[in-house]
Amino acid sequence: MDNSDGTRSALIVGAGIAGLTTASALARWGWSVEVIETGSEGTTAGWGLSLTGPSLRALHSLGLADQCLAAGYGMSVITNVDANGVASPIELPHLIGDDRPAMAGIARPELHRILRAEALRLGTRIHYGLGVFRLAQQGGQACAELTDGTVRTVDLLVGADGIRSTVRGLIGRPTPIRYHGQMVWRARVPRPDWATGVHTFAGDGHQTGVVPISPSQAYVFVTENGMRPGVLPDAGLAARMGDLLAPFTGRVAEIRPEVVRSESVIRRPVRTALVDAPWSDGTRVVLGDAAHAPSPQMASGAALAIEDGLVLAQELDRYEDIRKALEAFTDRRRERCSVLVKTSVAIARLEQEQRHRDAYPLIEACHHRMAQPA
Ligand SMILES: Cc1cc2nc3c(=O)[nH]c(=O)nc-3n(C[C@H](O)[C@H](O)[C@H](O)COP(=O)(O)OP(=O)(O)OC[C@H]3O[C@@H](n4cnc5c(N)ncnc54)[C@H](O)[C@@H]3O)c2cc1C
Repeated sequence: MDNSDGTRSALIVGAGIAGLTTASALARWGWSVEVIETGSEGTTAGWGLSLTGPSLRALHSLGLADQCLAAGYGMSVITNVDANGVASPIELPHLIGDDRPAMAGIARPELHRILRAEALRLGTRIHYGLGVFRLAQQGGQACAELTDGTVRTVDLLVGADGIRSTVRGLIGRPTPIRYHGQMVWRARVPRPDWATGVHTFAGDGHQTGVVPISPSQAYVFVTENGMRPGVLPDAGLAARMGDLLAPFTGRVAEIRPEVVRSESVIRRPVRTALVDAPWSDGTRVVLGDAAHAPSPQMASGAALAIEDGLVLAQELDRYEDIRKALEAFTDRRRERCSVLVKTSVAIARLEQEQRHRDAYPLIEACHHRMAQPA
């Protein structure tokens, strides 16, 4: 990239939530940004997600919270129902004003559309079907050999390439990916009228729940315990998810027929990763799931990813020296992200031990802790 006019240049590997948010944040602070993504344009994995308060707060700083609320479904309460049918509602902190919802459910393609449009509007160039092959540090700059044979020499290289990050290995931060014995099943269904917030239901074997993602749509999930990771044929997924939901009565039984009819059921293992060493090496850094991937139980991995982009841009603005800025970035983020990953793992364990009532206060306390400034 040409930065002869003094503009600082960044190459971001990965056009997921972390990569696109980082692109917009850096571009806002005057950086010249290029993003490479191995996947193809318009593909996103998963049906939807919850943007908790910290997500909305960081998106608000980037001018994007209202678009997300308009494209999704605003809500403020998570209602956890234990195996005896006793409900424990958690009122989430309102972080972008008392007049606005505390969180939003949103379809993943909608969130990506918003993040991508903003990054492009701010001048970011995004290339699909392109990955990174080799990295080197040359003087003060990062040098990346890409899978199409071209080379980029930039002031900053950001690995936002998810839990199975290639960049993490290339900068010498090999990190184990831990599997926690659970599979999360998700299916998109019409939003039931009663689903005006997130609901979870503990069963004797597994947990389920409903997350609204628009006024008309929601997704149902089931967290299956005691599973070995493995691939199941697509054709059997809806029927199997229907079987997992069959023991649940009441509201879940109401939705179950929609799941059995659904052609699009997704199943993902619950995995986590946390980089123990510094997240940067020279002028190269990892963030988002590449640095800290929680399990889905706290519904906050995207929040951390979005905050990362914003905090990175702030630290790069504070320090002229990019290396110092990256160290300051890790220092500012490490404890918060580590607490979230560890809490999500603890909740996954309590779920498998059927200790749901012990998990609820942990969830509530962690949401309040996450409400503290990033
Ligand atoms: C079942 C489930 C439910 C979840 N629910 C929620 C929720 O409700 N709320 C929430 O906040 N979080 C949730 N999360 C977590 C959230 O999805 C992640 O934390 C978030 O997507 C991380 O974003 P990311 O950009 O770091 O990584 P990713 O979303 O994984 O994006 C990484 C991108 O990098 C690309 N890539 C990979 N390797 C390369 C390479 N070598 N070169 C170029 N590109 C590459 C990938 O194709 C991908 O597009 C959930 C996770 C799971 C598994």
